[in-house]
Amino acid sequence: MPMSIESAIPPAAVDPARILATLQAFARIGYQPGGRMLRLAFTQDDLRARQLLLHLMSQSGLERRVDEFGNVFGRLPAPGEANTRPPVLIGSHLDTVIDGGRFDGSLGVAAALEAVALLKDHAESLERPVEVVSFAAEESSRFGRGTLGSAIVAGVWQPDEIMHLQDVDGRTLGAVLQRIGLDPARVGDARRDPGAYAAFLEIHIEQGRVLEESEKQVGIVSAIAAPTRFRLTLTGQADHSGATPMTLRRDALAGAAEVILAVERLSKARESVVGTVGTIQAEPGAINIVPGRARLSIDIRATSSENKRAVVDALTVEIERIARERELDATTELLSDEEPVPLDGELIDLLESCSEARSIPAIQIPSGAGHDAMQMASICPAAMLLVPSRAGISHNPDEWTDLDDLVAGVQVYSDAAWHLTMSSSEPH
Ligand SMILES: [Zn+2]
Repeated sequence: MPMSIESAIPPAAVDPARILATLQAFARIGYQPGGRMLRLAFTQDDLRARQLLLHLMSQSGLERRVDEFGNVFGRLPAPGEANTRPPVLIGSHLDTVIDGGRFDGSLGVAAALEAVALLKDHAESLERPVEVVSFAAEESSRFGRGTLGSAIVAGVWQPDEIMHLQDVDGRTLGAVLQRIGLDPARVGDARRDPGAYAAFLEIHIEQGRVLEESEKQVGIVSAIAAPTRFRLTLTGQADHSGATPMTLRRDALAGAAEVILAVERLSKARESVVGTVGTIQAEPGAINIVPGRARLSIDIRATSSENKRAVVDALTVEIERIARERELDATTELLSDEEPVPLDGELIDLLESCSEARSIPAIQIPSGAGHDAMQMASICPAAMLLVPSRAGISHNPDEWTDLDDLVAGVQVYSDAAWHLTMSSSEPH
């Protein structure tokens, strides 16, 4: 959808006070001492946040719907025939990690409510409906896997694949759904067909430092990186640290140290790849014993499948070499292997024109973190905007986005939602 810069400015400016009030209202739910947020998926506070959203939706005159997985939708209908066209879907999530911040997820829901409030004043001109969504269980903190609600809607995962997932108390997702009045056997009905939506738009905090360092107010996501994760166990020989000469050792932890450096070196050598060893355990774990076993987790991400594959392959060769030279046993267990998701080119162009029209400095960046948009991209064109996170901090009570940046981001987001909803042509 080519568009001139002048026509890219809709006649509606976002209301910073209203956005802040919405964010504050959500932040009061699950607020812990020290400003830590706690709204784990499907807990009492998560449900209360959804209750508040339903209330705000009804205040905005939206038609509300909670689907079979607990995803919350609010629809602003279009007049007449236009109401039969596929809606534009906008939103994010309201669940949080443990000790989370006030912006992760909530910003995307507050922004969607703002965008729809602006559209409502021009409801008679809508060329298609627009729906606000809050996807359930986006964070992996409770069940070990994230973006569950959007993956169910997009049909990326089948209910059977996730119902057995357990929380730390051993409760399965299926049992938890039942407890809050949802029928696990009907979760599959939440699935929507490809083409059910004209587009999905999400705004989120960056959770990194790229925008802050490049002094841009808005990041337009080019692609969402996907992780390949595995657990590596190196087994050598636990021996007395005093009585075992260096030449006779089979030190598993020293081998792990080489692997960690290899992850760093190989990831640095390929564009867009990030590699992390985030956990390590040494056994038996005593000051006077040569470690006989080391277990570590490896997380490799990239927005290019090819580069990610190259790093994983090279790392596999390195691990074999290190194990051979040190006479260690190496076993790897693949935990996940996902494909990076490129976002929609036309929507990226639209977000660029919208930023340019308002003279809001923007750049395209890849997202290293996973989001609902990556699941929705499999059934409709999807795009994402990011706003700066102060010092890159997130999943932490110190998570912060300056008001100016926040307002700039929500403005570009609302403008894009405006253009999509005021157009009868689909992005493809
Ligand atoms: Zn999030």
